[in-house]
Amino acid sequence: MAANTVTPALPAPAPATAPPGPGASVAASVAAAAPADATPKLGLPLRVLHATVLDWYAANARDLPWRTPDASPWAVMVSEFMLQQTPVKRVLPVWETWMERWPTPADLAAEAPGEAVRMWGRLGYPRRALRLHGAAVAITEKHGGEVPDDHAVLLSLPGVGEYTAAAVASFAFGRRHVVLDTNVRRVFARAVTGAEYPAQATTAAERRTATALLPAAERTAATWAVAVMELGALVCTARGPECGDCPLFTSCAWQRAGRPPYEGPARRGQTYEGTDRQVRGKLLAVLREAHDEVPQARLDAVWPDAVQRARALDGLVADGLVEPVEQGVYRLPR
Ligand code: SF4
Repeated sequence: MAANTVTPALPAPAPATAPPGPGASVAASVAAAAPADATPKLGLPLRVLHATVLDWYAANARDLPWRTPDASPWAVMVSEFMLQQTPVKRVLPVWETWMERWPTPADLAAEAPGEAVRMWGRLGYPRRALRLHGAAVAITEKHGGEVPDDHAVLLSLPGVGEYTAAAVASFAFGRRHVVLDTNVRRVFARAVTGAEYPAQATTAAERRTATALLPAAERTAATWAVAVMELGALVCTARGPECGDCPLFTSCAWQRAGRPPYEGPARRGQTYEGTDRQVRGKLLAVLREAHDEVPQARLDAVWPDAVQRARALDGLVADGLVEPVEQGVYRLPR
């Protein structure tokens, strides 16, 4: 697929290999990591937990193009940027078009950042497009066009945070890292600590728990990371966990505690209608479709509230997603 294909991408679904020492249990391992504020209640040997989840993944993993053995590290990186806040179904067509047009980081780096914003389409949170473009430029200029395989080097790329660095190192290169996205955090909150939902922001206790649960062998750890993520995406979903289909049903701490309701602070909703985000989306859609400079009047037509519209446009300019060309004329960044 890509010129910089170097390593089989996402670890193929596989049964557990090289589990930690005999007799190790989740409770013991997590307690050893001293998370006084995490209360692991899953009385299941660690190697049984690993085997259970990895076997489930082997049988149930979705067939996704960034998980194929010939998917390049760049293909994995693009998917991780897109999937952070957008479901697989919406990502798939954009990812495919993106990889056809820009099969390597150098292909993307050679184009203006506005083209990345245009191609991002309606995936939402379009600053991710700019960050991905920035990462492509850095990979091209400083790393010979090859996505780095080292977590710390990945972390040094513009727009690459802890999650993305761990995910790319793990899924593209089979490295052993804690990969904590919302799906993984929810599975661990329920199955291990017995809470319906995790805290709003990742805590040190969660990270210690996830570290204690990580298989020792690199490739197994990489598969474990994606397997737990898949379990959260397909079974242990936010609003309607399908516990009857879950491989952890009998050991899940939240189940065993009688599914106690969430008692933490109010969870953020996903309101979109009427928000500045919606206005930004409408303004950006005009610019994406224009392929040229756009006069203010065309932007004014998409939203009736002038104050909110101006605020949204100012935000897009401040974020580098829109460039003012001259008074009252705008375009995507070049
Ligand atoms: S049993 Fe239900 S709550 Fe527990 S991990 Fe499985 S799906 Fe999630």
